[in-house]
Amino acid sequence: MDFAFDARTEELREQLTAFLEECVYPAERRLVTSEDWSTPAVIRELQVEARARGLWNLFCELPNLQYAPLAELTGRSILLAPAAVNCAAPDTGNMELLAQFGDEAQRKQWLEPLLNAEIRSAFAMTEPEVASSDASNIETRIERDGEDYVVNGRKWYITGAMNPDCKIFIVMGKTDPTADVRRQQSMILVPRDTPGVTVKRAMTVFGYEDRDHGGHAEVLFENVRVPAANLIGEPGSGFAIAQARLGPGRIHHCMRAIGIAERALELMCRRVTERVAFGKPLAAQGVVQDWIAESRVRIEQARLLVLKTAWLMDTVGNKGAHTEIQAIKIVVPQTVEWILDKAVQAHGAAGVSQDTPLAQLWAGNRTLRLADGPDEVHRRSLARRELKRYQA
Ligand SMILES: Cc1cc2nc3c(=O)[nH]c(=O)nc-3n(C[C@H](O)[C@H](O)[C@H](O)COP(=O)(O)OP(=O)(O)OC[C@H]3O[C@@H](n4cnc5c(N)ncnc54)[C@H](O)[C@@H]3O)c2cc1C
Repeated sequence: MDFAFDARTEELREQLTAFLEECVYPAERRLVTSEDWSTPAVIRELQVEARARGLWNLFCELPNLQYAPLAELTGRSILLAPAAVNCAAPDTGNMELLAQFGDEAQRKQWLEPLLNAEIRSAFAMTEPEVASSDASNIETRIERDGEDYVVNGRKWYITGAMNPDCKIFIVMGKTDPTADVRRQQSMILVPRDTPGVTVKRAMTVFGYEDRDHGGHAEVLFENVRVPAANLIGEPGSGFAIAQARLGPGRIHHCMRAIGIAERALELMCRRVTERVAFGKPLAAQGVVQDWIAESRVRIEQARLLVLKTAWLMDTVGNKGAHTEIQAIKIVVPQTVEWILDKAVQAHGAAGVSQDTPLAQLWAGNRTLRLADGPDEVHRRSLARRELKRYQA
């Protein structure tokens, strides 16, 4: 078993590290909460530079095993770097969905401008009225009417949708409520400017608006009429497409989250080295050393599992890596949460303040235990697959 990255990955890691050190980290201070919801100017500037350096759309150009360590590096500056290299959620998942399931016209109209970062996109599945961790509950209706489909429903926590650059929604809803439960849902492309689409309000995350990545919107669809050609794949294929989309989306989140943990550990180590209490640096306290050692051990464990999952996805496909994708989705956000918590603690009041990124990182990471499937749902499904081996 070879644990080294190949030459191409090493080369890209060096280039990306240089981009982060020369351009992205210095720009972090310039990322101030903008007045509106549009893409911050600093991200636009970084995108020009990233493109010039050939650090663009890496998620779709590289196998998962090569992309994983690069996504991890972007996670070190989660508010800027993923968008700077056009590898930010939810666009990456949406682009992969369009590449895999969109027809030629859909790819031309929406995938091309997304790959060029001319527009952004949103994935609209979750609904406030129903338990959306069970996708079969989704109630939005997508009804055929002549040459069109008519969409009616209410969605919330639709990431990116507050940004006016977000021009396209991929909406999940029922085309046939009488069909088999796994064949009721479909996905349809709804342009933002279609009459009947109302971006109603920004939902917060522990009080944060997440403006830098387009917020999380509540969106109303009232008699929204789009051409039948906007349906993605066959009617009834929504469930299967959602599963296919969420696999890569989940591993991308986990890769970036490892980078968040590395940054948190670095901040913690720097802080405890400088800060003196009761006559010695905090770093000299056994309990603090224990946090640091435990953080390093947990990061290494989580990274190895993510890399194994990436390798499996490349070799046996997303389906073959199902158990491992669920395992990392369970393990990584909790691991990162533990490390962020210790970094906050080590910083004292500064840890919960606006003067370090830790509080916002904690809030964002905590949502990963809900988004793309809550922990309990993944545990249930993983356990059932494990048990199947012992059932007749
Ligand atoms: C910051 C953020 C961004 C998001 N972005 C998007 C987005 O872009 N697009 C989108 O469509 N959605 C998005 N979501 C929504 C997210 O995917 C849903 O919140 C998630 O799927 C859970 O659905 P729910 O909120 O309806 O919770 P519910 O389905 O009501 O579940 C509530 C809780 O019940 C428990 N539970 C559920 N099922 C089981 C079970 N089988 N066993 C044990 N316990 C169980 C879990 O603890 C779960 O957290 C986002 C959410 C957040 C917080």
